[in-house]
Amino acid sequence: MSDDVRARRVDYLRLSITDRCNLRCTYCMPPEGVPVRAHDDILRFEEIVAFARVAVTCGISKVRITGGEPLVRAGCPDLVGMLAALPGVHDLSLTTNGLLLPRYAAELRAAGLRRVNVSLDSLDPARFAAVTRCGRLEDALAGLEAAFAAGFDPVKLNVLLLEGIEDELDAYVRLTLERPLHVRFIEFMPLDRRLVLGGRMVPAPAVLERLRARHRLEPVGGPYGHGPARYWAVPGAPGTIGFIAAISDHFCQNCNRLRLTADGRLRTCLFSGEEVAVRALLGDDEGLRAAVLEALAAKRYDRCREALANERAMSQIGG
Ligand code: SAM
Ligand code: SF4
Repeated sequence: MSDDVRARRVDYLRLSITDRCNLRCTYCMPPEGVPVRAHDDILRFEEIVAFARVAVTCGISKVRITGGEPLVRAGCPDLVGMLAALPGVHDLSLTTNGLLLPRYAAELRAAGLRRVNVSLDSLDPARFAAVTRCGRLEDALAGLEAAFAAGFDPVKLNVLLLEGIEDELDAYVRLTLERPLHVRFIEFMPLDRRLVLGGRMVPAPAVLERLRARHRLEPVGGPYGHGPARYWAVPGAPGTIGFIAAISDHFCQNCNRLRLTADGRLRTCLFSGEEVAVRALLGDDEGLRAAVLEALAAKRYDRCREALANERAMSQIGG
């Protein structure tokens, strides 16, 4: 498939709305944290929506709000309302560590958000605290409860495959037996050379093999909004188990994503350091549209083998 044909398939925009976070996950941030941008450097909500409106004319129909931790940005439900009202946005979602969901879930749902992804890398309090450097498992679990209580559907759970996960696999499978929760095991992507990962990374195929040796799992279609993940389920279970294997699977070939950083830079690939500054073009719809289309035309689909080309942590790009 030519890159041109693929570029026309880019329909998914990830908007990072802040580079700040209330956690310090080992795989996402260096131990000292990352220097955050000044408030004036961060796009205002009106600017984010202006970008999204033009992106829709370039083929975008799905939008995800992410960060940093999007819910630490004041007024996040207002932004949800503005994006949900945008003609052409058919799917709006949010990725969060869940800590602030007890406070915001109902408001987000009322503003038009239908589904959420919660990141929860361990079900063991001590391991959760170690992976996040400062988080409390009970707060994250309260966030997950709040997501269900608010009626989000589907609720997906992102779990990074880090050393020690092997001992927790059964607990995650149990969650999928109890409720319609879609657990997705995600391979660590080495994006940032400053990261000191706490332990070795664990490849998705080894985890699937281990799970299949212990549980009867059948391949299933994914929940609504599934992208590169492949899904399995215990027969009859309300939930599923998915794998996002950027490294083992080299899924660049099917990439449909465009990213906007909180400070207004367009990125067509997580693994490439190339960025297009678009803030100055906001208000000039034709100029902005031309810049987006040019970036899409130049998007490459073979970068995941070129890890470590980044100077930004995931929290600064928008995972
Ligand atoms: N703070 C929110 C959260 O944690 O869900 C949203 C931002 S976070 C950067 C988005 C997702 O990226 C999380 O699910 C996180 O686990 C994932 N992530 C961060 N660094 C990663 C890395 N190096 N490799 C793979 N996934 C990563
Ligand atoms: Fe924060 Fe999310 Fe990165 Fe963890 S993964 S440090 S919660 S941005």
